[in-house]
Amino acid sequence: MSERAAPFFCPYCGDEDLRPHEAGHGAWECAACNRAFQLKFLGLLARGLAKEVPGART
Ligand SMILES: [Zn+2]
Repeated sequence: MSERAAPFFCPYCGDEDLRPHEAGHGAWECAACNRAFQLKFLGLLARGLAKEVPGART
């Protein structure tokens, strides 16, 4: 299970016709605008996974 979730829309033109790019993991190409791009995980945010509790005061 090394497959990551695929993007639903092209970040440049918004089209849904995306397919894996030959560059490898996280690389996608858009058939509509002919762009190739890469998704990269940058890391977790410093604020962590704080869960908001309804009604709780912060
Ligand atoms: Zn596009």
